[in-house]
Amino acid sequence: MTSETCDVCVIGSGAGGSVIACRAAQAGRSVVVIERGPYLRAAQMNDSEIEMIPRLYKDGGLHMNSGLDMFILQGTCVGGSTTLSNMVMMRAPEAVLPAWRSFGAELDPAAMARSYDTIERELGTAESDPTTHSGSTRRFVAGARSLGLSPRRMRKALGACRGCGNCNIGCAFDTKRSALATYVPWAERHGARILADTEVDRIEIRRGRAAAVHVRTGHGGERSRIVAKQFVVAGGAINSSALLLRSGIRKNVGSRVSFNAGSMMVAEFDEPLDGYDADQMTWFLPGDGFIIEPTHNPLMSAALTTPGWLDEHERLMRRQRHLAYAGSLISTGPTGRVVQSPFWGHEETRFRASPDDVAALRRGLKVISEVFFAAGARRLILPTHRFRTIESASAIDTIDEHVVSTRHFSFGSAHPQGGNAMSSDASVGVVGSDFAVHGLENLFVCDASIFPSSVTVNPISTVMAIADYAAPRILARA
Ligand SMILES: Cc1cc2nc3c(=O)[nH]c(=O)nc-3n(C[C@H](O)[C@H](O)[C@H](O)COP(=O)(O)OP(=O)(O)OC[C@H]3O[C@@H](n4cnc5c(N)ncnc54)[C@H](O)[C@@H]3O)c2cc1C
Repeated sequence: MTSETCDVCVIGSGAGGSVIACRAAQAGRSVVVIERGPYLRAAQMNDSEIEMIPRLYKDGGLHMNSGLDMFILQGTCVGGSTTLSNMVMMRAPEAVLPAWRSFGAELDPAAMARSYDTIERELGTAESDPTTHSGSTRRFVAGARSLGLSPRRMRKALGACRGCGNCNIGCAFDTKRSALATYVPWAERHGARILADTEVDRIEIRRGRAAAVHVRTGHGGERSRIVAKQFVVAGGAINSSALLLRSGIRKNVGSRVSFNAGSMMVAEFDEPLDGYDADQMTWFLPGDGFIIEPTHNPLMSAALTTPGWLDEHERLMRRQRHLAYAGSLISTGPTGRVVQSPFWGHEETRFRASPDDVAALRRGLKVISEVFFAAGARRLILPTHRFRTIESASAIDTIDEHVVSTRHFSFGSAHPQGGNAMSSDASVGVVGSDFAVHGLENLFVCDASIFPSSVTVNPISTVMAIADYAAPRILARA
């Protein structure tokens, strides 16, 4: 088995890992980043979902919870989930850091604010560009305003975006400011080595320290061992917990998994809105326990999120130009759990949406319905597996009857969080406020898995800001 040595070994090249790797390389450390997915440059990307989704997503986009009533989307490629993201940049709402602090995650708020500033500046974060707003989103915004609601423009890091609407399958135009286009190449420029198509199987622990990681590369599964002074696990929620469990680190690991999760409502209009022909996501509407995000997926993904079976589904897909979509996004409680499956030999994500989660989701779906009817929609289609429509605003309350159990409607998340919660109290947390795994002084975790509870908004900005905050603190421990 071959072996190589470095100062800092980062596992995962997504939002957390890329920033840590970049800062460590800028500080003159020798850095190796291990990424189990492929290194696909913009020039190798295209607008074919059939080609891109299996190459970029974990389990080809088919990862589910163990109850099979929630899909969970994550990236498996250099840049991690940021490569597939819309680069919506939202800071944690004011209540979040104090709530985390009361769990024992002592992140200095002033230093965190500076890290948010740094990340936003480096990525060129700005309000979404009006020239890329879709026809369907404009209608949603007009409908919301006519009801006296206050939708807000998203802040995004998209560079000179052309509004092709394909953010979720990469960025063939190389404008999106994902980690793939920013912190990863910036880290490389300072000497970091990216080992793509390479998976960390386990972390070797010896005498209270991480000694090495054992990796497999490529289809042949060639095995090697990487020795480092410091290791930073940044494989993302679920994956990072799975890796710690596989490495025999079990205390509190896998618990407190939460999600921003949601369902999509579809509205049919008489006139064409061409929602797909623009940036997918540019406005949002905050609500009571939910956020509404009008959006539009590329065609194949739209087919998966558009309800109906056979002829009904085909008819709706042929009406794509006339459809508008909006998601009701809720943040769940930290009730999920990652376990190592004795049957399958890999991790399982155990999570069931609570009645409160579903009630918040319904509230959001009702607001979406009111907004779309106010915007002139002819009818609405519920996210239920049985095809159900709402033909007028007076029937919106039927949502209460039909959206009750996640077994009966489509529900999913692209924002898993937690599993390795941060708390200085080792009896409840996995990492301390210094990002080190309790009891292992040179093994750190820095990704969405350390959130003690859901950040309640889109997480990239917070994951990156936390990594920027963590980097000097971790490097100072070498
Ligand atoms: C389609 C989609 C759109 C999104 N859009 C937005 C958005 O617009 N705004 C927003 O705020 N959030 C968005 N998100 C969520 C956001 O991208 C994630 O919350 C964030 O990237 C999480 O950062 P992370 O570092 O924890 O993990 P990731 O960014 O997922 O990176 C983890 C990386 O580690 C690798 N890895 C895991 N285990 C191993 C291992 N054992 N060995 C080697 N490598 C490993 C994975 O392959 C992956 O590349 C989106 C997510 C998806 C899927």
